[in-house]
Amino acid sequence: MADNSLRNPDNAPGRWYVDDTCTPCHTCIDIAGPATAHPMMQYNADETKVHFAVQPSGPGQEEAAQEALDLCPTQAIGNDG
Ligand code: SF4
Repeated sequence: MADNSLRNPDNAPGRWYVDDTCTPCHTCIDIAGPATAHPMMQYNADETKVHFAVQPSGPGQEEAAQEALDLCPTQAIGNDG
């Protein structure tokens, strides 16, 4: 389970976040990265972590964010922020 106290500071303010246990494995980038239909997540400048550049807006983006949360192998994605 993601830990909001370990939230990556690059996340956009709001409920959804990635914490510092992101490896990164790229799974969420395939779901909600810049080249997808729901571009919300991107790499940090040094490409060692991923964060929510924008918060999900609307059912389609919420669904994509939830899919990323469900598939993240390190459980680094949270929605309790
Ligand atoms: S799926 Fe999880 S571990 Fe993989 S890049 Fe995304 S936040 Fe990081």
